[in-house]
Amino acid sequence: MKTAIITGVTGQDGAFLSKLLIDKGYTVIGVTRPSSLNELINLEYVGVKDKVKLLTTDLLNKASVIELLDEYRPDEFYNLAAQSSVSASFRYPIETMHFNSLSVINILESIRIVNQKVKFYHASSSEMFGNIEEKNLPIKETLLFHPTSPYGISKVAAHWTAVNYREAHSIFSSCGILFNHESCLRGKDYVTKKIINTALKISKGEANELIVGNIDIRRDWGYAPKYIEAMWLILQQEQPSDFLICSGEHISLRSFIEKVFSSLGLDYQQYVKTEQSFMRKSDLPVIYGNNTKAKEILGWNYDMSSNQLIDQLMEDERQFVQWKENKGYK
Ligand code: NDP
Repeated sequence: MKTAIITGVTGQDGAFLSKLLIDKGYTVIGVTRPSSLNELINLEYVGVKDKVKLLTTDLLNKASVIELLDEYRPDEFYNLAAQSSVSASFRYPIETMHFNSLSVINILESIRIVNQKVKFYHASSSEMFGNIEEKNLPIKETLLFHPTSPYGISKVAAHWTAVNYREAHSIFSSCGILFNHESCLRGKDYVTKKIINTALKISKGEANELIVGNIDIRRDWGYAPKYIEAMWLILQQEQPSDFLICSGEHISLRSFIEKVFSSLGLDYQQYVKTEQSFMRKSDLPVIYGNNTKAKEILGWNYDMSSNQLIDQLMEDERQFVQWKENKGYK
């Protein structure tokens, strides 16, 4: 039986990954921070709250991480913990840079000292590409990074740290460069979750408007539970490497909204308002990726269209809302 450590276990990806690994027979050690703001609702929803061994560890403290590695001797280490909001990174640039980059050096230094055999996965992000020219679309693994947010910059620093430990210390250190992946477990302020949740409320007479920023941006959105499978596949390879994980499709936020509202028999133009305060300081008009390397080398199979994704997300959200109501959660 393999043992895996997951940092950021209480988040969207942490919950789905815990479930996937537990179903495969892993022992899962889930790391949260000492001052964790998150509840365990995601782990509870996917049915693994009592199956993950939860620990609080300060990932900025080397002694604590060394102790963690020493005690549990994991086969695999999935590093998902991060201040993961782009907009929050503009409000808290120093904190974002500090945690998102230094935690990765700290973990990899600890791995170098304690257990060089552990396979390390790092959660890189498509936000690292940032300011790309249209001629470079679809994005490939080889494209130069040009981040446009403190979050993107922090992820570039972390990404190159993971690559450097692979090249300089021969540690099995791989990065999944994931594009936006969605589910009902996304934070409530994230745009896809907010659109679906608000539209469902409007359809039940519980809300009367949806306020968003720029709806002409085009994005490559995918389904989180499928993207998690790629994380696991990345660590099952013989050789470490970095992989773009994306759908390869792109749709505008306007189309996303229109489809959600029309499936509920609503005309989005009557309910959707755009506000300047919801616009990002620097926003890219269009971004989408090429998932050929992941499909060919990992054997990752992703074939969900944007329309299927939206239908699935709406169905998942309905079930999640119902589950929360039954449990008495707000
Ligand atoms: P979430 O925000 O849902 O989860 C991240 C987790 O990290 C949180 O549950 C939190 O756990 C922990 N965390 C947050 N801030 C800190 C901090 N300052 N110190 C320590 N721990 C912290 O993110 P996702 O699950 O969506 O994403 C997982 C990873 O993948 C993140 O690194 C994210 O940046 C990256 N990513 C996500 C994408 C997406 O579309 N979802 C796309 C590309 C990359 P707790 O508060 O319990 O400690």
